Amino acid sequence: MNCEEATKLMDGYLDGELDPITSQTIEEHLRGCSTCEQTYKANSALIRAMERATPYYKAPAQLRERIQSSLREEIAEPPARKVVRDSQVLFRRRQPELRTILLGTPWNWLALAAAIIFAAIIALNLVPRLQRPGADQFLATQLIAGHVRSLMANHLADVASSDQHTVKPWLDAKLDFAPAVVDLSSEGFPLIGGRLDYLDNRPVAALIYQRRKHFINLFVWPAGPDTSRTPKAISRQGYQLLHWADSDFTYWAVSDVNEKDLQTFKQLFEEQLPHH
Ligand SMILES: [Zn+2]
Repeated sequence: MNCEEATKLMDGYLDGELDPITSQTIEEHLRGCSTCEQTYKANSALIRAMERATPYYKAPAQLRERIQSSLREEIAEPPARKVVRDSQVLFRRRQPELRTILLGTPWNWLALAAAIIFAAIIALNLVPRLQRPGADQFLATQLIAGHVRSLMANHLADVASSDQHTVKPWLDAKLDFAPAVVDLSSEGFPLIGGRLDYLDNRPVAALIYQRRKHFINLFVWPAGPDTSRTPKAISRQGYQLLHWADSDFTYWAVSDVNEKDLQTFKQLFEEQLPHH
């Protein structure tokens, strides 16, 4: 062992944290190296002085129980286990800096453990909220791709018809759900046709409407228990996306029309739905 290694392991040795063989190797080095031996003596003198000077509180049994039971609860859940483990890793990495504060005061160790659990709980609560926008962004990318693809490949409609009574049965026969198809030609949004698409890991219906020279893809699929009911308006890459949901379906309208036109379209579509 050289001096560099001995210095690195010194703290662990002073705290009695090293395995017997490493401890022995350090001891051998200390016997033969006066520099390291002096460092060792200075440090152990400092530790003894701090132990004498620092008040030593015993944590109340209740606090100990509370922390242990919340640790058990946290560890019972798989995602929590990761957060707790990450905290432990971080904590171990920060140990040298914390040593000064924590030395000889077990109460502080418990307070720190409580702080870690508290941070873990906050992190767990934040995770689902942080994941949501990401999921929306991913879906938005898919929706825009679907819209652009439909315009590029001359594949706007599988069933090209302005008649909702032609488009609806065609879609109903191809899908395991029956989306409402409404005609909005008198409102300035003529129906062009219908198409099958694949989004959000499932087949979906695409209704195509026209607004002057522009097309609107209205993607429709059944609303699930985790469908967001909050209407959303996203503007991306020159496209407008509008999301809403009713009791049966989730809707995403995608187009390069302006946001106001798309809002009007949504409003008219909802007004024309059969149950309105
Ligand atoms: Zn040395």
